[in-house]
Amino acid sequence: MIGIIGAGISGLSLAYHLQKQDIPYILLEASEQPGGYIRTIRDNSTNSRTYILEQGPNSIMVDQEIQQIIEELGIDEDLLPSNDISQNRYIFKEGKYRRLPAKPSKLLFNRFFSFSSKLAIFKERRRPKKDIENETLSQFFERRFSKEIVDYALNPFVAGIYAGDPAQLLIHKTFAQLYEYEQTYGSVIKGLVKNKSIERRHTSSFKQGMQTLPKGFAQKLDHLRLGVSVENIQKTGDGYTIQANDEQTFQVTQLVIATSAPAAKQFLNDSFPEFSQALGKIYYPPMIAVHSAYKRAAVKHPLDGFGGLNPKVEGLYTAGSIWSSSTFNGRCPEDEVLFTTFVGGTQSPQHTTNSKQITLGKVHQELSEHYQISASPLYQNLCKWEQAIPQYDINILDAHRIADELEQEQLFVCANWKDGISLPDCIKKGKKLATKLAEKYSQKVLE
Ligand SMILES: Cc1cc2nc3c(=O)[nH]c(=O)nc-3n(C[C@H](O)[C@H](O)[C@H](O)COP(=O)(O)OP(=O)(O)OC[C@H]3O[C@@H](n4cnc5c(N)ncnc54)[C@H](O)[C@@H]3O)c2cc1C
Repeated sequence: MIGIIGAGISGLSLAYHLQKQDIPYILLEASEQPGGYIRTIRDNSTNSRTYILEQGPNSIMVDQEIQQIIEELGIDEDLLPSNDISQNRYIFKEGKYRRLPAKPSKLLFNRFFSFSSKLAIFKERRRPKKDIENETLSQFFERRFSKEIVDYALNPFVAGIYAGDPAQLLIHKTFAQLYEYEQTYGSVIKGLVKNKSIERRHTSSFKQGMQTLPKGFAQKLDHLRLGVSVENIQKTGDGYTIQANDEQTFQVTQLVIATSAPAAKQFLNDSFPEFSQALGKIYYPPMIAVHSAYKRAAVKHPLDGFGGLNPKVEGLYTAGSIWSSSTFNGRCPEDEVLFTTFVGGTQSPQHTTNSKQITLGKVHQELSEHYQISASPLYQNLCKWEQAIPQYDINILDAHRIADELEQEQLFVCANWKDGISLPDCIKKGKKLATKLAEKYSQKVLE
């Protein structure tokens, strides 16, 4: 039997795909609900006005493979594609939000970037190819494009996706495809043109929020055990003994770690001290998500996009906001608008140390200034993640190396600190690992 520890989206997807192939498994989850970081709050405490708030992920990029899984789970009717307007992305530059062209090709004909950056984009095809060990995203983009592109395009997007700092994240661990394009075609732009995907992908959520997704997986599973917190792992003759709260034990032949690195560090410490130590080096910056609703009439900005990102060089308190009510319908009452604003991350962890009241005040102050809001918020909500998103920087390399080696010992990883952090990455790696484990299982049965 395969033991999976952690029923976030990665562990759920793995368990679901194992079950589909009749492979025996048990999925152990410490909390009383599955989904990990995926957490939707439906708040109707304010004069029976309803807000649907995402404290973790706000959306998922749905391609054909993910769409098929959503259909298999029977939750496709609940899917909520983003509004067309959300294709517009705004970046804060020189005191106001400016629209970034949706297509990279349009960057050359738009006034967002200076002439010298446009020239740098144009000349990228001819820049010499290099292969630099452990190059960071900033180094890569500055070498191939320009510092302005690093500051005003790369920086805010990396903060938006990873809560990270491009000066620390590694290109081959985060945007490996761009690294490959340089190696294969000698140019990122050439690679993008040659590999232009025609596959349709759509940013989506669910009518009742993102938590529909883990619930959809969980309701299909026969062997999900909630409220089981793994405390220790012991190696046995042909597998592992999992020790959990209330003196529960589980014997498994293969073990899959689907928890965060700090959680795994604890329960692997006895049997795998070197791995445990490497896991402890992975940095998870703190991050706060603040929800603010205002009367629509009090907000002058049209909010005609997905949201506004704040580059570090602009020195704002917040990292940016998703314009949740523009992106998805039904997030707040019709006559209001809802912002989901992020504070903290690797670039400004110090902003997360203020009290709740101060944070809410600062967020309101910044929103009202830059979106020309003339009234107080009707509603505010705050959620703090002490350890938000694992950083794929130089400190993660040891954990990745050891994880690969431990597959020999029937110990596997299926979690967001390896092979991608996005929800589609997590779902697809669960499916891929299920196929690999199923092959091993059928080989063993034949023996
Ligand atoms: C604020 C925020 C916003 C994000 N926004 C997006 C977005 O919009 N789109 C997107 O694609 N991605 C987004 N992400 C990333 C994405 O949400 C995560 O990478 C993904 O949900 C991680 O899933 P996971 O299953 O790997 O880990 P987790 O969600 O961390 O799940 C691990 C599970 O293990 C359990 N566990 C821990 N310890 C134990 C133990 N000892 N015993 C048993 N169980 C244990 C935990 O309770 C948890 O349920 C966001 C992340 C954050 C934090």
